[in-house]
Amino acid sequence: MPSDLVIVYHRQPYEEVEENGKIVFKENKSPNGIVPTLKGFFSRVDKGAWVAWKLAEDPSNPDFERVVEIDDSYGKYAVSRLPLTEAQVKSFYHVTSKEAFWPILHSFKEKYDYDPVDWPTFREVNWAFAEAAAAEAAENAVVWVHDYNLWLVPGYLRKMRPDLRISFFHHTPFPSADMFNVLPWRREIIESLLSCDVVGFHIPRYAANFVGVAESLFDIETGPREPVNPDFISEGVALSERKTAQYVVWKDRKVQITASPVGVDVDYIESKAQTDETIEKAKQIREELGDVRMILSVGRTDYTKGGADQLLSFERVLDDNPDLRGKLRLMHVSVSANRNMTVYEGIQNEIEQTVGRINGLYGTFDWTPVTLMSRAIPFDELVAYYRAADVAWITPLADGMNLVAKEFAACRGDNDGVLVLSEFAGAAVEINSAILANPFSHKSMDRALVQALNMEPEEREHRMRSMRETIRKYDIRHWAEDQMAGFAGDDGRL
Ligand code: UDP
Repeated sequence: MPSDLVIVYHRQPYEEVEENGKIVFKENKSPNGIVPTLKGFFSRVDKGAWVAWKLAEDPSNPDFERVVEIDDSYGKYAVSRLPLTEAQVKSFYHVTSKEAFWPILHSFKEKYDYDPVDWPTFREVNWAFAEAAAAEAAENAVVWVHDYNLWLVPGYLRKMRPDLRISFFHHTPFPSADMFNVLPWRREIIESLLSCDVVGFHIPRYAANFVGVAESLFDIETGPREPVNPDFISEGVALSERKTAQYVVWKDRKVQITASPVGVDVDYIESKAQTDETIEKAKQIREELGDVRMILSVGRTDYTKGGADQLLSFERVLDDNPDLRGKLRLMHVSVSANRNMTVYEGIQNEIEQTVGRINGLYGTFDWTPVTLMSRAIPFDELVAYYRAADVAWITPLADGMNLVAKEFAACRGDNDGVLVLSEFAGAAVEINSAILANPFSHKSMDRALVQALNMEPEEREHRMRSMRETIRKYDIRHWAEDQMAGFAGDDGRL
């Protein structure tokens, strides 16, 4: 049966595990994260489908189960799995997407690597995704494509199936033309995106950048620059950053350009943070730390997350403020990427060395300034760390949104704890009650941390309440509704 909603996302929407010699599809029961949110839409259609890739030694093997039918708590849906070889995955995902696109999207020109890109393979894999989506989609179905590794899918899909309604969402930042146009495939990528009915971004600045890139490459008509969802933008954001053209006309079709920030499931996270187990675990974390202020930093080991710069700031703060020595503990969670990429290895080494140096310089027999955790903390446990922290110190150099910041606030039903947030995280556009820091300025970084540590309880409470109001209003459901608003009927069905 064809599907009225096809979600195209590179990862499969379940875990494949072996039980008694058989592969079973295990539903991840936690509603946290983007995958469960997307699956939630299957309740609005009679039949849904998901397209993802799956590693295959021999993609032509007839035993490869190409489409599996899933029946889980989200309903019945088909998962169409593209069999990709290890070499294809490496080329399309680890090389082209992560070594060429990722640095440009995050404005790190110097990390951009053109040489290893195999463009024909990128096209081939995107074509295969488009074919799989076309095969699942009913007449006039909505096809919802996610992220830059599938940039060429909308263009191919429009050619294969002009009847489809195509929406594309970017989960990353989108840079300005002088950065984006470094990519030699810029015209092909933008032309593909302009084949969509809707192109979505987290914040107006990214949307405006996209329109700017399109205008730099093609002679297109754009709608007037107007504020986008002005109610989610905090007051501190420059007026120019709140606006974008809300549509672009391309080949006689109007392409809607939207800005809507991904949120978190506040109710779920809040309830997790309030269980006896979490409260007990948070207490235990604090007891083990002793009488110190706990600063928590959580992110992946990626140059965009600014882990090393943050550690240098911590070192300066200890150097400049002898009175703080012995009174702080930085819990630095930097989840290492398991990708065998030299660029990630380099940043990992830098983090490890800096932590070693700080602990060597300032540590004593009974005080360790920094604890480094390189392995991912399961979410159930992470909520206890969020709950235990005095300060969440989240200072990426560039970040599409940053959900950690929102999760921290969602956990703080006690209305305590201070968030220090980078101006260059998409989340900073919504959350104006955090202490905003510029990670490219030593002064700003160091001052923000000291300000957070010195903040009086009344101010902490005031800021946290306001932050929680914002993240509750623009939660994950709000984002999901926004995404499908143009496609759903009055009854909410697609
Ligand atoms: N996360 C986790 N355990 C960890 C570190 C992170 O479960 O040890 C989760 C975190 O709860 C969040 C996600 O990973 O939901 C990171 O999302 P974010 O938007 O902050 O950054 P991204 O990694 O997507 O760039």
